[in-house]
Amino acid sequence: MITRRQALKTTALAGTALAAAPTLFAQSNPPAPTAPAASGPFTLPPLPYAVDALEPHIDAQTMTIHHDKHHAAYVAGLNKAVSGLVGLDVAGPLTIEFLLKNLSTLPESSRIAVRNHGGGHYNHTLFWQMMKPGGSALSGELATAIAASFGAPSLFKQQFTEAATKIFGSGWAWLTLAGKELKIETTPNQDTPLSAGRQVLLGLDVWEHAFYLKYQNKRADYITAWWNVVNWDFVAERHAKLKG
Ligand code: MN
Repeated sequence: MITRRQALKTTALAGTALAAAPTLFAQSNPPAPTAPAASGPFTLPPLPYAVDALEPHIDAQTMTIHHDKHHAAYVAGLNKAVSGLVGLDVAGPLTIEFLLKNLSTLPESSRIAVRNHGGGHYNHTLFWQMMKPGGSALSGELATAIAASFGAPSLFKQQFTEAATKIFGSGWAWLTLAGKELKIETTPNQDTPLSAGRQVLLGLDVWEHAFYLKYQNKRADYITAWWNVVNWDFVAERHAKLKG
C-alpha cells in the first residue's frame, strides 16, 4: 500500500526525471527580468515582443492586462497549488508538463487548482509564442499535413474558426497532434489537450479577457483579426519536433 507521503515522493522523482530532458517548453520559459521575485518554482515568462507589437489586431492594453495580470495570476495560483507538493519530503522541480499529464495522480486537495492555474500557465506561455507581429505564412511540411487532414489550409482555417466561434463561455480552440494525426478540438476554462494525451500545436484563447476591451461582444471579429498574427513558424517547429 502506498502512503500519501510515498506517492508524493514518487511524483516528485518522476517530475525530476522529466525535468532533466530538454523540452521546447523549458527552453522558452526563462524567468521574466521585470517580474517580482518568484514565490515558487514557476515564473511568468516575458512576452516575446512589445505589448503593442500585435496592434491593431490585438491592442496593447489587452496584452498588458492579459499577460501581466491574468497570466501572472495563473503562475501565482500554480505556485500556491504546488506548495503542498514540494514540501520537506519532496526534492526536485516538478515540470508543468508532468503535472498536467498526471493530474489524476495528484492529491485531491491540489488537483483542481493545478488543472486550472497550471493549465492557464501552460496555455498562455504557448499562446504568446503562437503569435508574432505581422504573423508568418503557413508553408512546408505543416501546410501539406494540414491539407491532407482538412482538405486545404483554407478549409482548416474555416473549421478552426467555426470551432472557436461556437465555444460556449470561456475556453480555447486548438490544433493538436494525436499521435501523428492532426485534430481541431476545444477545451473549456483552462483545460489543456496535454492532459488528455495530445500535444498542442496552435491555440486560440477565446476568454473575454483576451478581446473584450477592443472587440466587446464581437468574438468573431477578434478571431478574424487573430489570424493576421499567427506565428506559423513556431507552430511548424512544434509540429516537426512533436510528430516523431
Ligand atoms: Mn487568457
